[in-house]
Amino acid sequence: MPSSCRLWCSQAHVRPLLATCSSPLEHLDIRNCSDQTVRGLGTVGFASLQHLVLTCAFGHRRWNFHSLDSALAGLPQLRSLHILGLRSPRPPDVLSCLSAASMPNLSLILFTDSFTSAGSFDSEVDSDEDADLLADYFGSPVCQDLVRRAPQPLHVVARVSWFASEAPYGCVVFFKHSTADAAVVACSLCDEANVALVMRSGTGTKIQERVQVQ
Ligand SMILES: [Zn+2]
Repeated sequence: MPSSCRLWCSQAHVRPLLATCSSPLEHLDIRNCSDQTVRGLGTVGFASLQHLVLTCAFGHRRWNFHSLDSALAGLPQLRSLHILGLRSPRPPDVLSCLSAASMPNLSLILFTDSFTSAGSFDSEVDSDEDADLLADYFGSPVCQDLVRRAPQPLHVVARVSWFASEAPYGCVVFFKHSTADAAVVACSLCDEANVALVMRSGTGTKIQERVQVQ
């Protein structure tokens, strides 16, 4: 019988922690996820894993740029990936390192980030009232490029908070199909993206923008 597991890891001891898991692991939720833990996932490898949640707590918010790509190489069946609380590198910078070969079945990515216009934590936008989520957020082109090169019809959900604030600012979803209501309603991945967003951010969080990637 497939199994689900939730871990609070301070160091990369993924293998011994999961040594007692006797059934195929489909869902893994890691809290306090350090760079060492991410790289440990690739080393151990979980051929059956389909859903992965990586939450970075205070003090463990820094990964190496290529750690996630290395991890995904050991997770060939992965369908959905949530990256929460990562501060350095910024999630779009980590995602820009993913090759098509490392995400053969990846269909949904959700991540949280802070909204700045320059890709750093120093905002060039004077206030949130001046900001255009799609045009000013530096991660937008990265997400679009990710959707283009993914071998599967990938949906990327970016839930962005305003600079230095934990308050939700907005949410954008990138995909290849039409943004027409009928196409969105008919798409099971759009429904999955909504469910994932509510799960991570509460029922009050809405999708502000839907982007068809050309
Ligand atoms: Zn869709």
